[in-house]
Amino acid sequence: MKSLLVRCPATSKLTNTGQTVEEKSWPVTKVKTQKLACTHCGQVHSWNKKDVILARPLQ
Ligand SMILES: [Zn+2]
Repeated sequence: MKSLLVRCPATSKLTNTGQTVEEKSWPVTKVKTQKLACTHCGQVHSWNKKDVILARPLQ
C-alpha cells in the first residue's frame, strides 16, 4: 500500500491525505477533487489525482 501525499502550495511541504492505494491499481484509480485541511499552513487545499505523490505509509 502507498499513502497519498499532496504538496502544500504555501509551504511546499508534503501533507498526508490519510488515504492509501494499492500502487499497482493507482494508474486506473479515479480520484475526484477533494479538500484537505493542511497541517502546515492551516488552509484548506483542493487536490486531485495530478497533485498526488505516492509514498510509503508512515509508521
Ligand atoms: Zn498548506
